[in-house]
Amino acid sequence: MAASKKNTGARVMAAALQLTDQLVGWRRHIHRNPEPSMQEHQTAAYVVDELAALGLTEVRTGVGETGVTCLVRGAKGRKTVGLRADMDALEILEQTGAAYASEIPGLMHACGHDAHVACLLGAGAILAGMPDALPGNVKLVFQPGEEGSGGALKMIQDGCLQNPKVSAIACLHVAADAPSGYVATVRGVKNAQTDEINLTIHGVSSHAARPDNGVDAISIAAQVLIAIQQFIGRHTNALDRKLVTFGTIQGGTRRNVLSDSVTLVGTMRTLETPGREALLRFLQKDLRKIVSAMGGKLTVDIVEGYPPLVNDDGVVDQIEAAAKATVGAEKLLTGRKAGLGGEDFAYFGTVGAIPAAGFCLGTYDEQKGFTASLHTNRFDFDDTLCLPLGAACLAQTAIEMLGG
Ligand SMILES: [Zn+2]
Ligand SMILES: [Zn+2]
Repeated sequence: MAASKKNTGARVMAAALQLTDQLVGWRRHIHRNPEPSMQEHQTAAYVVDELAALGLTEVRTGVGETGVTCLVRGAKGRKTVGLRADMDALEILEQTGAAYASEIPGLMHACGHDAHVACLLGAGAILAGMPDALPGNVKLVFQPGEEGSGGALKMIQDGCLQNPKVSAIACLHVAADAPSGYVATVRGVKNAQTDEINLTIHGVSSHAARPDNGVDAISIAAQVLIAIQQFIGRHTNALDRKLVTFGTIQGGTRRNVLSDSVTLVGTMRTLETPGREALLRFLQKDLRKIVSAMGGKLTVDIVEGYPPLVNDDGVVDQIEAAAKATVGAEKLLTGRKAGLGGEDFAYFGTVGAIPAAGFCLGTYDEQKGFTASLHTNRFDFDDTLCLPLGAACLAQTAIEMLGG
């Protein structure tokens, strides 16, 4: 049993290495042609065309608007498991200087979703090429709108986990802080709950020379910013991992007029429920007292974002077994820490109610100059090295999930 398992992993890895040129071609085509969240029309059409070229035609399009699913059938077994990739790009002007850089100014695959699509197409090709080793079916899920639109939820609501029913699902995400070509796994919570915070401080305008005749919204905003960080640092359990970041602040009209309003727009990231609840209580209740003590009024608008991604232990076991059988135990890093980024793959576990887990594919390589973080205009990686490893680990994870 162990020997045949090892054998399957070696077959999968060999098939992935043979696919290298195609994997790189897919990734670079998608990289050149990025599309924003929920507008992945060309990308979805490209995926369908490439699946057809691989002989994979059990395809459903328009799932959750622009999503695509594809069923790869094994020679035996009735179980179906899922593998997922996200397809959307970010509103960033690319500065990598790469030959395959984005051809759409202001849009860039800076979160590696181009790599995810290429690896999933690759996993489909590998699995379709060895139905004898596939003890069930694999549904490939190409989802739109991960970057804020909740495309995973739209696909689940549109039935992507039905017909046939998917019993467990896995995905990969590139990681710019893990070494290039390594697979890294996380136990338990992997990605944060995200919530959007919009605060407006209402003051009263007056002449800049007579602030006592008004209420200065800008100086109250300064107090609010400090109070929030102080609350996190001094009034919540430091072991509950959480943060609040404000990305924009707007207020005032000119130098010599007291501002009557300031708007702070930010995000809150929490890994544990008690930390989130404490922060919500503070933002919605106690913060008002600080603002009113200064004579101002506070409007709080919090929009609930993605739930935390809590990796299923059983699926992580299967991912780790797959990594050992394909990329090798020496390239598997277990016990990676959770990140405070969000990931809508979490919905497969919560709303989809099936075991779900994601793993990381490292891309960091100082010697080759691949050091930029995700979501920056310089993010890139050695696709020739990484893509076959990602595709192989994904394909083998499906085999492990099917009990192969
Ligand atoms: Zn992202
Ligand atoms: Zn991403």
